Amino acid sequence: MDISRIGLIAGIALSSTLLAPAALAQDVPYETLELQRGMITLDTHLDTPEAMDRPGWSIMDRHDVRGDGTQVDYPRMVQGALDGGWWVIYTSQDPEGEWDYKRVRDFAVMRGMTIRNMIAAHPEQFELALTADDAARIKGEGKRVSYMSIENSYPLGEDVSMLDLFYKMGVRMVGFAHFRNNQFADSSTDPEGPKYGGLSPLGFELLKRANRLGMIVDASHSSDEVLDDMLEHSTTPVILSHSGAKAIFDHPRNVDDARLKRLAAKGGVVQVNSYAGYLREVEPSPERNAAMRALREEMGAPAEMDEATYQSYLAKLRAIDAQYPLVDRPDGNDFFKHLFHILDLVGPDHVGIGMDWDGGGGVAGIEDITDLPVITQALLDRGYSRDDIAKIWGGNILRVMREVEAKADPKPAE
Ligand SMILES: [Zn+2]
Repeated sequence: MDISRIGLIAGIALSSTLLAPAALAQDVPYETLELQRGMITLDTHLDTPEAMDRPGWSIMDRHDVRGDGTQVDYPRMVQGALDGGWWVIYTSQDPEGEWDYKRVRDFAVMRGMTIRNMIAAHPEQFELALTADDAARIKGEGKRVSYMSIENSYPLGEDVSMLDLFYKMGVRMVGFAHFRNNQFADSSTDPEGPKYGGLSPLGFELLKRANRLGMIVDASHSSDEVLDDMLEHSTTPVILSHSGAKAIFDHPRNVDDARLKRLAAKGGVVQVNSYAGYLREVEPSPERNAAMRALREEMGAPAEMDEATYQSYLAKLRAIDAQYPLVDRPDGNDFFKHLFHILDLVGPDHVGIGMDWDGGGGVAGIEDITDLPVITQALLDRGYSRDDIAKIWGGNILRVMREVEAKADPKPAE
């Protein structure tokens, strides 16, 4: 989730692709789709759980990115050959100080239950994945591979043993900070700058706990110095679940070449994201953003609406989109610049895909998960082998997960 800083429950992206005019269907040969279907295709950052809590929204229905703004559901997973990925428990911590830890903790636990309930309600289509080996088995059974992750550890409060609860719930990946510094780590984007110069003392405890439990350590959104601390102190490879290259666009959310190389040298993986504002300089749409903000202030978060209110919310969103269309939108080439740069830098053993679907990701031409074969085709066109592409789509992150599992020592909490 890289979007709303307005509410506890993230709503529609301020830079949403809703109704934006752009080419959807692309000419990708059928063989490319077939090739991708033969691989384990995973995305490390699926922010769809927020939509799962919207009234009347079901993962089993087919939605339209230009209708309700969502980018992932079961019918589209089948069409785009996405086997699964990490469903995200995302918790905002703004406005700072307004919520105490317990309320935010409860929100995160309930969001985790939303993911578990979605999986339990559709046992023929989804299965909770807890280990790296689960991916191939679940795909082999014709179901979608459902890992869980937490983005922003803020809801853990000041008791790192809370991480054990999320582990028991099924969470196997942990991101430390988000837009703002928190009790564990500095953020890459806090307007007030760094607080600790890396991990806080509690953050080091959290890192130890994650290593011991067997959870993948995710440095996306954290500051460069937090990444440095993680690379130095984590007993397992570190990943970036949805990030880009600073060499392509100098944004604090993107990571410089030297650090990307160090991360790869330690066995980690860079999962490349497609969040427009991090791909290149984008001409701002202040009227559009102001209208989106006003709507959120007027109507609140979609998950708290009844069905009728939600429909009227969507109608208002469409009206804003018609009145203030996005003037400047990155496209596939902007995304591929990051992907190819990172591939050239660290090689195909250390790159993956984490598009930030339903969290603000997606570009013109790669609008939702039905467009994933466009990425496979671009990799083929650039000369990557089938084996390389399979590693990029899932093999690399599963390799990291195996290392994390091998080093785990999940003793009961003291
Ligand atoms: Zn994010």
